[in-house]
Amino acid sequence: MTFALHGIPVSGGIAIGHAHLISHAQLEAAHYTVPAHQIPDEISRFDNAVASVRSELTRLRGSVPLTAPAEFVGFIDVHLMILNDGMLALEPRNIIENEQCNAEWALKVQMDALLAQFDQIEDTYLRERRTDVIQVVERVMKSLLGHPGYMPPQMGDGRKLILVARDLSPADVVQFKQHHFASFITDVGGTTSHTAVVARSLNIPSIVALHQARQLIRENELIIVDGTQGVVIVDPDSQTLAEYELRQHQHDLERLKLKRLRYMRAATLDGLTVELQANIELPDDVVQAKENGATGIGLFRSEFLFLNRSQLPDEDEQFEAYRRVVQEMEGLPVTIRTYDLGADKGPEEAQRFVTNPALGLRAIRLCLIEPQRFVIQLRALLRASHYGKVNILIPMLASVREVEQTLQLIAQAKASLDVEGVPYDSEVKVGGMIEIPAAALALGIFTRKLDFLSIGTNDLIQYTLAVDRTDDAVAHLYDPLHPAVLSLVAHVLKTADKAKVPVALCGEMAGDLTLTRLLLGLGLRQYSMHSAHLLDVKQRVLQSSLAHVKPLALRMLRESDPDRLRMMLDRLNA
Ligand code: PEP
Ligand code: MG
Repeated sequence: MTFALHGIPVSGGIAIGHAHLISHAQLEAAHYTVPAHQIPDEISRFDNAVASVRSELTRLRGSVPLTAPAEFVGFIDVHLMILNDGMLALEPRNIIENEQCNAEWALKVQMDALLAQFDQIEDTYLRERRTDVIQVVERVMKSLLGHPGYMPPQMGDGRKLILVARDLSPADVVQFKQHHFASFITDVGGTTSHTAVVARSLNIPSIVALHQARQLIRENELIIVDGTQGVVIVDPDSQTLAEYELRQHQHDLERLKLKRLRYMRAATLDGLTVELQANIELPDDVVQAKENGATGIGLFRSEFLFLNRSQLPDEDEQFEAYRRVVQEMEGLPVTIRTYDLGADKGPEEAQRFVTNPALGLRAIRLCLIEPQRFVIQLRALLRASHYGKVNILIPMLASVREVEQTLQLIAQAKASLDVEGVPYDSEVKVGGMIEIPAAALALGIFTRKLDFLSIGTNDLIQYTLAVDRTDDAVAHLYDPLHPAVLSLVAHVLKTADKAKVPVALCGEMAGDLTLTRLLLGLGLRQYSMHSAHLLDVKQRVLQSSLAHVKPLALRMLRESDPDRLRMMLDRLNA
């Protein structure tokens, strides 16, 4: 039976393919058959995952500071006990063998059985232990997924797979990058959550906040994903299918035509040139950035190098990753953001006991409480600066002390390289992200100390409007056109210009075609966005004139009525 589901569109285009269902974000349990001769390997993959979580927990237990509350150790002990219980450590082995299924699925089946038993228990304390079981299973599942053995089902006949999940963490999405799904759809998530941001970078249609996709769609069912409209059509009839195939074909043709703009300078009709740079998560993304004519990397979210692994990358590994990007960009600027971990992107120590991670130990705050770890990255960045044009970008600044401490650590990293005689660019520029309203309002303290700025509108909107960017329940309140947001962005552009400090904008607003002219009119000259949007935005710039858009954009700054703002934006884009 054909039916449609509606969600929040995250990445445009049309995908037609077969549903592949996975369960909860941390419990990615794909189901596939394992051939009989591979069963022993699958069992040892499971055993290895359990062993690695056991040593992870044991290590964690050993590193709990003496000052930590006693429950910390108790909590880890409970998890170790659950992990060591045969019901979890042994029973899934039997399931793998009897059902000839993959380890993730066996673990999920066993977890469901255990949870059903817990639900029967009268004792509240014991019943509450079900959360611990889930958390332990999550750890094992993560370990399994980090294992190269994980493979989605193969569609040998060339059919496309569409991933249907309740939720995906940013780390999951990065991990799925290599598997070439035709589309991602999820039941929860906000439009600028990091998950959505990464999904967008894959340049495949994606939709979040579908609410019931996982319950209503069956494994292998044919579905159409319209990532532009935010609609999923399940089990389409032949007429609908033909219509969408045609639309998909037209969309592909448009993209092909856009490719011709790759080498053109992005200049307005009245001759103003703007920089269109790319946001990347991993070194491999450079290929796409260059294919789409990026004039530099405006944001390398370096924290993605730190996800999906139990051991952090050491200085050499980081250096190689940064150097690769710098060399592949052949002299074009590469702005590398120091790791913005915490909130919805690991590491676990920043998340575990925190009630409000977006306001907690995230980004530069996390770096500064662990200067040893931070200096490793700073040294790697400086070393890479010898091979091209590196700019260092500091995320989530709120106070001048954070800038001072970071500059001190950079000086310390430089001094240590000097002692070792390791070359680096002594002129390397250091900039800061303006993504907290306090930083936008007190911009002078940052323009005085930094070489450049970059406006992170994803967080700026989240913090200005007090709307969690990952929560679809408040996604309708997340509004780039809110007068407070527009006025903060305009204020930063104007103030930085006056102070002669270059300023870029690297949030999702930069790649939103409907906002290209508005931002141009407000004074933006450097956009950084996912590569997938570069050519669309370039085309829009080529069709715009500053003389026309500036007065309209400035008039929008004085408007507060949302309907009128929308109308004015439509006029600007007409
Ligand atoms: C932003 O906040 O706008 C930004 C670019 O950084 P991220 O999305 O990684 O938080
Ligand atoms: Mg941010």
